[in-house]
Amino acid sequence: MRKDGMFIAVEVDDAIASDGEIAKRLAEVCPVDIFAAVDGHVEIVEKNLDECVLCRLCLDATDSDPTHPSPVRVLKLYDGESAL
Ligand code: SF4
Repeated sequence: MRKDGMFIAVEVDDAIASDGEIAKRLAEVCPVDIFAAVDGHVEIVEKNLDECVLCRLCLDATDSDPTHPSPVRVLKLYDGESAL
């Protein structure tokens, strides 16, 4: 799942998007409410995307295996879609 704002896009792997625990964790950690837990699924709140403060808390909350790409990606659209 991916949603794009003007400056920031967020991608969440389908493999974790329907994990209720991860959905809750993401909703808790993001200081600007870019994630919501709805019916046990991760929702990306499009209207808040450009409020992202690049804090990495969503990455830290989901990226337990450094040898694999993170299941959550924050992409800087103003910088060639480079990943946070
Ligand atoms: S980097 Fe921080 S502000 Fe941006 S989506 Fe992740 S938790 Fe939210």
